Amino acid sequence: MALIVQKYGGTSVGSIERIKNVARRIARWQAKGHRLVVVVSAMAGETNRLIALAREAQSHPDPRELDVMLSTGEQVTIALLSMALMDMGLKARSYTGAQVKIVTDSAYTKARIVSIDEARIRQDLADGCVVVVAGFQGVDDSGNITTLGRGGSDTTGVALAAALKADECQIYTDVDGVYTTDPRIVPEARRLRTITFEEMLEMASLGSKVLQIRSVEFAGKYRVRLRVLSSFEEESEGTLITFEEDENMEQASISGIAFNRDEAKITILGVPDRPGIAYQILGPVGDASIDVDMIVQNVSHDGMTDFSFTVHRNDYQKTLKILEPVVKHIKARGVESGDRIAKVSVVGVGMRSHAGIASTAFRTLAEEGINIEMISTSEIKISVVINEKYTELAVRVLHKAFGLEQPG
Ligand code: ADP
Ligand code: ASP
Ligand code: MG
Repeated sequence: MALIVQKYGGTSVGSIERIKNVARRIARWQAKGHRLVVVVSAMAGETNRLIALAREAQSHPDPRELDVMLSTGEQVTIALLSMALMDMGLKARSYTGAQVKIVTDSAYTKARIVSIDEARIRQDLADGCVVVVAGFQGVDDSGNITTLGRGGSDTTGVALAAALKADECQIYTDVDGVYTTDPRIVPEARRLRTITFEEMLEMASLGSKVLQIRSVEFAGKYRVRLRVLSSFEEESEGTLITFEEDENMEQASISGIAFNRDEAKITILGVPDRPGIAYQILGPVGDASIDVDMIVQNVSHDGMTDFSFTVHRNDYQKTLKILEPVVKHIKARGVESGDRIAKVSVVGVGMRSHAGIASTAFRTLAEEGINIEMISTSEIKISVVINEKYTELAVRVLHKAFGLEQPG
């Protein structure tokens, strides 16, 4: 008998019929003697609908009020699922994040989980209940409702699994596992039977939204056995996130291609090349709690250089505003910027020991006439920034160049 945490995403609970389907799956697991804690997202499209509504009321919705509203999406689903379970004769009980108590910090719309009180859940499990918990939400020390950032229900699932020391955390979604790249962009993408934790972390941080990055971080920190599966298929093993690198060592050096269209690029032109300049530019950006991703500084000519970096598109306008006085102060020549960019990344733990991967990637893009605007590399990934309109093409040709398609 195992303790299992299952998480069902928005599409998987997108209608009453689908919620009943989820209830039937839960019933089958329980019938096998397992104890179940189930985390659900808001019904498909609901979070987007609520955000749009908020923007009609206030041009930049107040973050605290936004979280009060967004948390209702998940609250509807937990009740519906519990009712569906009861309708099948099972014992079920639902909890919001605040009721559990999932305590977070107070960073509205992107809060981090600090602690989870699992006593009540354990009590219900002992009573034979299926415990249904609202994903994506928590409560801060002062009792304010918070949310965990888009895709945050994954993190609720994994964090609960860690707190309960569950035997496995199963993330049920609308694809049957983690693929070599987004199967909606490249139909030839291949499902990975296993992926190492490190690679999953890179894939998630580079844009593969199949798992929220914080959920992967939690899985790593607490060694949660994590699996991604389809809620629409009966018997599928999905993808297991593994911690033993050796298992995968014999495989290809590249495990996948990730991409994201969430960033904007800013270049400060003609920056005087002297100590402290990078700090003068990025210091105020960091002070405003804006995360900077890629940073590139060119070799200087005649004491002048260009300095480029990327930020999240949500922070683009704010960053430009912050830089206005800075550019004047350091006497730079000007600013060039754009938010129609995409970051495409080639990921693989095997990369460490293989030369030539960068050159294959760059040649492949060159052959398609795709200009590379920025490059950044780490031990297990190469990322390039390109014009957004070439995203799908770049992902497809790189996927092919590294032989990631399905055999046959
Ligand atoms: P859920 O609502 O269940 O949380 P998401 O939409 O957040 O589902 O995540 C699942 C989606 O992630 C898939 O439909 C797929 O389009 C996308 N995706 C992106 N990259 C990958 C990948 N490498 N493998 C699988 N799915 C991916
Ligand atoms: N409903 C939230 C979202 O759409 C959380 C989640 O689905 O994981 O982002
Ligand atoms: Mg998701």
